[in-house]
Amino acid sequence: MCPNCKQNTFSIWDKMTMAPLKPKKCKNCGALIKPKFLPFLFSLIISQIFMIFTILFILKLLSPLGLSFIWTISLSVVLGVILSSLVWIKLHTKFIPLKVVQD
Ligand SMILES: [Zn+2]
Repeated sequence: MCPNCKQNTFSIWDKMTMAPLKPKKCKNCGALIKPKFLPFLFSLIISQIFMIFTILFILKLLSPLGLSFIWTISLSVVLGVILSSLVWIKLHTKFIPLKVVQD
């Protein structure tokens, strides 16, 4: 939601590609909007940590299956990246406050 005109002008994709150094223009009021830096950083760090733990967890889960080493590693990494991206998208679109860029 745009903090300036309170309209829902930002799609999930807009929010995902928005960064503190890369503000986006609101389609409705034209204000430049960016995410607040610290919450942005926290969600990035949390999802990175989540990714590492997910990969380790899936590795542990897959190891008794007797798959080859390469398969075990690649499956864990792929699943870990997908799951942590979902968490990151959720965190990013739900909890990161947006603010108007003042110039
Ligand atoms: Zn707006």
